Amino acid sequence: EEEKSLNFLEEIVEEDLKNGRYKSILTRFPPEPNGYLHIGHAKSICLNFGLAQKYGGKTNLRFDDTNPVTEDTEYVDSIKDDVRWLGFEWANELYASDYFEQLYNFAVELIKKGFAYVDDSSAEEIAKQKGTPTEPGVPNQYRSRSVEENLQLFADMRADKYKDGEKVLRAKIDLASPNMHMRDPIMYRIKHAHHHRTGDKWCVYPMYDFAHGQSDSIENITHSVCTLEFIPHRPLYDWFIENLAIFPSHQYEFSRLNLTYTVMSKRKLKQLVEEKHVTGWDDPRMSTISGFRRRGYTPQSIRTFAEKIGVAKRENLIDVSLLEFCIREDLNKSAHRRMVVFDPLKVIITNYEEGKSEILKGEDNPEDPNTTYRDIPFSRELFIEREDFMEVAPKKYFRLAPGQMVRLKSAYIIKCDDFVKDADGNITELHCTYIPESKSGSDTSGINVKGTLHWVSAPHAVHAEVRLYDRLFKVEDPSSEEGDFKDYINPNSLEVVETVYAEPALAQSKFEDRYQFLRKGYFCLDKDTSEEKLIFNRTVTLKDTWAK
Ligand code: ATP
Ligand code: MG
Ligand code: MG
Repeated sequence: EEEKSLNFLEEIVEEDLKNGRYKSILTRFPPEPNGYLHIGHAKSICLNFGLAQKYGGKTNLRFDDTNPVTEDTEYVDSIKDDVRWLGFEWANELYASDYFEQLYNFAVELIKKGFAYVDDSSAEEIAKQKGTPTEPGVPNQYRSRSVEENLQLFADMRADKYKDGEKVLRAKIDLASPNMHMRDPIMYRIKHAHHHRTGDKWCVYPMYDFAHGQSDSIENITHSVCTLEFIPHRPLYDWFIENLAIFPSHQYEFSRLNLTYTVMSKRKLKQLVEEKHVTGWDDPRMSTISGFRRRGYTPQSIRTFAEKIGVAKRENLIDVSLLEFCIREDLNKSAHRRMVVFDPLKVIITNYEEGKSEILKGEDNPEDPNTTYRDIPFSRELFIEREDFMEVAPKKYFRLAPGQMVRLKSAYIIKCDDFVKDADGNITELHCTYIPESKSGSDTSGINVKGTLHWVSAPHAVHAEVRLYDRLFKVEDPSSEEGDFKDYINPNSLEVVETVYAEPALAQSKFEDRYQFLRKGYFCLDKDTSEEKLIFNRTVTLKDTWAK
């Protein structure tokens, strides 16, 4: 087997293990529970868990729940489901909010060391005093407050003596730093909001920059992997850890996944849900993990995709066809084959006895050397696809036409003798004869035909609905277009075929089952299925049919 070269994170980890910097590694996946996870998060999950797996380490699942306003336990539950579904198990389930007391004490320590101060300025004043990338910031009168005064004021902030926005705690670093994040960043703000876990216990909440690195350090995370936009935050990450003299976690950055024809931000996905452009977070057109799952994607296909795109240090836009390629490859190997007619044309087998039927065997999966078989009933009245018949056929048309023969998959060769038209000139049925000696698997007819059609026995067919999905957006990168990203929604992203005719084996479908409907695509049962109605989602077409 060809040896794969290491990505830059694997190189770092191997080096750290080799030179004894760490005996084992500990990574974390740190979602903010303010929405459902998307395929970009899947990349981060595969990366963090994959790195630990490869080097015998562990991974924590840590909810970065420091912003009480946007977070919810519904999201916590969905995130756990999604990580497990992708095939990963975390070492510990942790919450940044469990560290609130510890983080508060860290802040007190920094105040005592003269590294933090309480500032009474408004948000606007602070922004203005910070200067610009080319102009240094200017200190205000609060910056020189004494340690004692700061300790008292910070305690008062916690003790609910101030309103939102009246005071903040800032790190005292360098107002002239070329890195804006180092210009006395805010560590704590006052927010009178109910937190999904700590309730009303706190009215001061740490900012991301003060919570994230310290949480990493508390857990002894060795490699804290995040996306490129955090590069300018790294000096601050290191500054807090150094000045608190706590476990030295290190931050590394990789490029976030961007995918064509979709959006990948919880904020935007939430808008799509709330404004009802889709039916929910798990709508099969969404870029969420739960959307892909409902659409019929397998965890393996998403892991393969994450592996294929690799880990880069530059932003890029990945073609969604690569993801589709991964699911097709996976399903081609594993999906059971079934026959479903979408637009039926009746076929009467005139030389097949009326009222009679027989059971034929169909391979579940020709790609599997140990394939199982399902029963397929055959009878005098069948359905084929309307588009598989032509009254006047061109040369090299290998489907049905008057006088022409085809094989019915897993069944017999039939010949079209005649057809019936209604008053409007629509073809209503075909009259065919079958060749009894041509049965699949024991064909002694000696007849060679070029076309093979899918079909179902009309009296045995079960009705189902199919939902055919297309891309949710009309343009490759809706977020970079002019105007609102929602202006670029594809109005035809869902086509519902209310009644299709399926072979009876499909009546036994289970939610985990994946199917290839012959010549139609890959499908799975949708959760809207009821006792009355089977509903199938098209996961992906058989070929890349997207017209560029
Ligand atoms: P969003 O903007 O979609 O809300 P986020 O980064 O704010 O994304 P978090 O819940 O904070 O969402 O993300 C958890 C982890 O997943 C972080 O480490 C983040 O860097 C990573 N992540 C988020 N989006 C992507 C992406 N598109 N590609 C790779 N990793 C991502
Ligand atoms: Mg985030
Ligand atoms: Mg976010």
